[in-house]
Amino acid sequence: MQSLKNTKVRKQNSEHNTIVKCNDVSFGEGYCVVIAGPCAIENIEMALLTAREVEVQGAVVFRSSLFKPRTSPYSFQGYGAKGVEILKAIKSETNLLLESEVLSREHLETLYDHIDLIRIGSRNMDNYELLKEVGTTDKPIILKRGMSSTLEEFLLAAEYILSNGNEKVILCERGIRTFETYTRNTFDVLAIPALKELTHLPVIVDPSHSSGRSSLVPAASKAAIAAGADGLIVEVHPEPETALSDGGQSLSFEDFKLLMKEVSDLAELFKKQLITTTKNVRN
Ligand code: PEP
Ligand code: MN
Repeated sequence: MQSLKNTKVRKQNSEHNTIVKCNDVSFGEGYCVVIAGPCAIENIEMALLTAREVEVQGAVVFRSSLFKPRTSPYSFQGYGAKGVEILKAIKSETNLLLESEVLSREHLETLYDHIDLIRIGSRNMDNYELLKEVGTTDKPIILKRGMSSTLEEFLLAAEYILSNGNEKVILCERGIRTFETYTRNTFDVLAIPALKELTHLPVIVDPSHSSGRSSLVPAASKAAIAAGADGLIVEVHPEPETALSDGGQSLSFEDFKLLMKEVSDLAELFKKQLITTTKNVRN
């Protein structure tokens, strides 16, 4: 790909793989990291309940979204800045790392001291000013693919972060817009090995937004790992039917438990080390 010539994201040889470290959690070739949690934090009770459960089942990072980019301005926009108190409670009760989406520089300032990884969502993949801003931070960035972005555009968006000084970028395939409507997006499974040919950065998959249906999340997750993904970011809710956002694609605790068993088996099959915390049942 001509436009990747002389970029920091490009892979220089087949052995060139970056491991992004976040405390003692490694993202990249040879590892499998599961990030899980609700689409949005709704209140402290559901956040703590979900955090404790996903940790026991094998997640090491908690989805802690306080600011939600919603299609309708009348839909739940997230718990907001006051949720920082909830993040502190999760930190004190679990060994989970926290990740959360930032939509603006203001969000970044609010969340910076309370999260371990910064997420840039699909809708902001080409918000170049925001990419430059997170490029000056020293926290790992989960960069989600724009829903209509080519892999080249995705990698050049990552380049904005690397070229501003932050080389800790984790790419996330989350499905792309196609003519199909049964699934919310079309999971581009070949994006995983294709990205691995083009870049040295870790690649994870969001099977929840990729599929839009909880019934399809296990298949998308397993396909992702089989195709070489270095981890997953999965939506889990204590009561998906009453969720304020994305209930239809959120796994129940029971479904997440079953998924983690399969993920653990697949990680072993593909010789990937599944990262866990000391509170995980498998320890
Ligand atoms: C999310 O992960 O909360 C989200 C909004 O997903 P995406 O940015 O991929 O649409
Ligand atoms: Mn969601």
